[in-house]
Amino acid sequence: MTQDKERAMKTPARTAIIAGNWKMNYGPRQASHFASEIVPELGQVVTQYPHVLSILCPPAISLSAVHAVLDTHHFPRIELGAQNMYFEEKGAFTGEISPAMVCELGTTVILGHSERRTYFGETDEMINKKALAALHHQLRPIICIGEREDQYEAGKTEEVIRFQVQHSLAHVPQDSVKEVVIAYEPIWAIGTGKAATVEGAGKVISLIRQLFDEMYGNEAASALHILYGGSVTSGNISEFIAHSDIDGALVGGASIKPDFVEIVRKTIETMQQ
Ligand code: PEP
Repeated sequence: MTQDKERAMKTPARTAIIAGNWKMNYGPRQASHFASEIVPELGQVVTQYPHVLSILCPPAISLSAVHAVLDTHHFPRIELGAQNMYFEEKGAFTGEISPAMVCELGTTVILGHSERRTYFGETDEMINKKALAALHHQLRPIICIGEREDQYEAGKTEEVIRFQVQHSLAHVPQDSVKEVVIAYEPIWAIGTGKAATVEGAGKVISLIRQLFDEMYGNEAASALHILYGGSVTSGNISEFIAHSDIDGALVGGASIKPDFVEIVRKTIETMQQ
């Protein structure tokens, strides 16, 4: 089967997702300003094609500000997500936000980003608890996995990915796994301008789908959304989207610039080819 035919077959089932991780950029005022700048254009772009979903993930303190901008426009397929949350319901966890708090404003939460793992000591066990809490609250978890450069160079990518998938998804029941999104982000490609090759990313993403097949069966594996993340720009997004197994991107640096709209536009153009 050609790649085009595969894409034509999978498109209606697996909408492409372009999520923007703003990281620790834009407090409420700047977030509101930036969202007001990009949302009208982004809205026009996503309105043209039903199979692309874009998700804006500002810092937690700016969620309300971006929510207010989205609320004035009501464009379909532009959603709001958080970059992290805690797994407990409420209580004495100073500085944290709960799943229910995220739910009040957004649909999605990024979990286990490599910066959370590296700087804040998040483990697969914690990420698993967060994923279970997100699913319990009908939030869409985007679970980030990926190998470090030394692991990549030592040929350990498969081992690392297998471990992260199995542990971050432990106890996720069959009937909620369809809500899970995986972002494959090789750590050496994040913020470095050195994106993975499409072939390299595609190989790991196919492995992730195969792991889901082993854990949840073929139907769940075929429906799973797997994004690529790591130095995605409007200059390289089309190549990733053209790969039959890559269902979108988690975008960092380029998501806080108008280039984000261009990335979504190119995603649609590629899917329509
Ligand atoms: C990210 O933060 O998830 C990311 C992929 O960053 P960048 O696009 O800047 O590499």
